[in-house]
Amino acid sequence: MRRVVAVLSFAAVSSALAACGGAPAQVTAPVAPAPEPPVTLQVSLADVGLDAAALDRAVDPCTDFYQFACGGWIAKTEIPGDEAAWYRSFNEIDKRNEAALREILDNVGKDSDSKLGKYYAACMDEAAVEAAGVAPIADLLKEVKALKDVKQLPELLGKLHRRGIKPLFRLSAEQDFGDATRVIASLDQGGIGMPDRDDYLKDDERSVKLRAAYRKHVQATFELAGWKGKDAVTATDDAIKLETELAKISKTRVERRDPKSLYNKLTRAELVKANAKLDWNAYFLPLDVSPVDVNLTSLAFFAGLDPLLAQTKLPAWKNYLSWHIVRATSDVLPKRFVDEAFNWKKAVTGQAEQKPRWRRCVEDTDDSLGELLGQHFVALHFGGASKQAATELVGAIRGAFAENLKDLAWMDAATRDKALTKEQEMAFLIGFPAKWRTYTFETDAKQYAKNALAASMFQVGYDLARIGKPLNREEWQMSPPTVNAYYDPQRNHMVFPAGILQPPFFDAKFSPAVNLGGIGMVIGHELTHGFDDEGAQFDAQGNLKNWWAPEVEKAFKAKTDCVAKQYSGFEAQPQLFINGELTNGENIADMGGLKMALAALRKLREKQKEVKIADGYTEEQQLFLANAQAWCGKMRPEMEQTQIKTNPHSPAKFRVNGPMSNLPEFAAAFQCKAGTAMNPANRCGVW
Ligand SMILES: [Zn+2]
Repeated sequence: MRRVVAVLSFAAVSSALAACGGAPAQVTAPVAPAPEPPVTLQVSLADVGLDAAALDRAVDPCTDFYQFACGGWIAKTEIPGDEAAWYRSFNEIDKRNEAALREILDNVGKDSDSKLGKYYAACMDEAAVEAAGVAPIADLLKEVKALKDVKQLPELLGKLHRRGIKPLFRLSAEQDFGDATRVIASLDQGGIGMPDRDDYLKDDERSVKLRAAYRKHVQATFELAGWKGKDAVTATDDAIKLETELAKISKTRVERRDPKSLYNKLTRAELVKANAKLDWNAYFLPLDVSPVDVNLTSLAFFAGLDPLLAQTKLPAWKNYLSWHIVRATSDVLPKRFVDEAFNWKKAVTGQAEQKPRWRRCVEDTDDSLGELLGQHFVALHFGGASKQAATELVGAIRGAFAENLKDLAWMDAATRDKALTKEQEMAFLIGFPAKWRTYTFETDAKQYAKNALAASMFQVGYDLARIGKPLNREEWQMSPPTVNAYYDPQRNHMVFPAGILQPPFFDAKFSPAVNLGGIGMVIGHELTHGFDDEGAQFDAQGNLKNWWAPEVEKAFKAKTDCVAKQYSGFEAQPQLFINGELTNGENIADMGGLKMALAALRKLREKQKEVKIADGYTEEQQLFLANAQAWCGKMRPEMEQTQIKTNPHSPAKFRVNGPMSNLPEFAAAFQCKAGTAMNPANRCGVW
């Protein structure tokens, strides 16, 4: 996706290898605080919402706080066979949400008129899926076969893109970087099947192994779809060769973190002129859009398509397109296709077994009819009280951010004012959309693939219909049950779906310190995205427009560079280091989020009448424990390798230890000696 939406969702957890040195593990008694003027209550960790069993008290919190807070949980937790990773927060909540959604779907399924019920029932009807075979995609494959000339390619490409099948590149509706009130067409690089362009081009052991697995998978898929013997081999060669050419002209993930380089707006006439070999007008026709201007996320990528179109023979294009049709629809075809798609997933993530069908069907229904399913979920599982409490927490974090701005010595008055304005203009959405989306496509209780293709077509049509219309600021990009959150710099708003407002992130019964360490940190993280190295390039209105005084911008750049360099030194697996540039925005957001959560707690305590000491841990210690325990997780090594290469989030261990070791208040709270891993001599800090 071109848009630089910054989501919270987790990446990897590292192995037990310590990233930082430090003293050998030792048992450290928790330190009780100096007496506070308010009444002090002695309670248990469970009373405030923390998990005593998750701790590993044999580890010194000053050496590796993540291990201290999560070691007990890590030792007793197995990653389920049908998962690539497992987190104490995200996955445990997901599991609860999934069970709730299944119950909803089973119930609505009893109503034979329910669009939702029919969609889920058709997905669950494996016999009908088997009986349909490849018939649902036969027409599309026939159209590919019928191509007479490479010149006919653009129109067919448009037809496939209209159905959500995306060979070659991607078209979407996006806000204009230069004018956030406008929605324009955006063309982005794409058309590859492996997770990253580097996977086609690098010669390290993992890439070589992955390519071998991919070749096997593509060929097996062709064979299942009816290609025989040598034809399947040739088809595989053609598809992979074209994808490799596309990878070569694609930008890296780090290059794509520069919004300015992603902004290359052309008029329709300029676009048409730019590609002699690609008839854009023929392409747009079946998509039912006629954009006035179009943004290209990469001029080089689209310029590179012309030689590809000139040099590649028609049969190779046919094989490439056929591959993309089958790969995009494998999940809705018979079991043999689903199993083969899973073989590939296994190579990428290490996941041992497939999720049971009902789980896949719940996920797919949420993908296809999320705001219909979400209405039921919200009615049953989202109380008004949690919305109120979350709104108050947002207020507390925003207050902390504004206060903190005053203390930043590297800012000047003018830039500070602009930062404050941006923060004040930042909107936030909690729980669920104010207006629910209407799904206009029909569903059939017996035809899963047909439903899924209709849903995909609806989604594409819905998206593209936004082009040329005023921006709808209330629109959500995640469904309500989703356990995640995001900040969108072009809308300058943050969004917290109902799914994440649950334990261990949030519970009305938790102490304020624990809620601030959980959801408070999440709110601070999203808010800080407005001011990370990418977000800071957008102004209060969401335009890509520099609002920084040059000297202040220089100081800011030095600070973000410090973070990038520091995180690049964190080692997740032997010789596998975090990419500090790829993860820079997320790391800055993690650091800001933790700092704001702590500041909000300190502010709250000014008026607090009682103080809770939980099993000897002070309230500030509780906040740090809550924060770490929200990230306790385990990940399969293959998944971790994939994540490090492709995911902008650092592994969980570093999402905890990175921000905490950079925060002097953490070292003070746990009385860490100078020079310990969690109280280092050199720190980075941005906000
Ligand atoms: Zn984030």
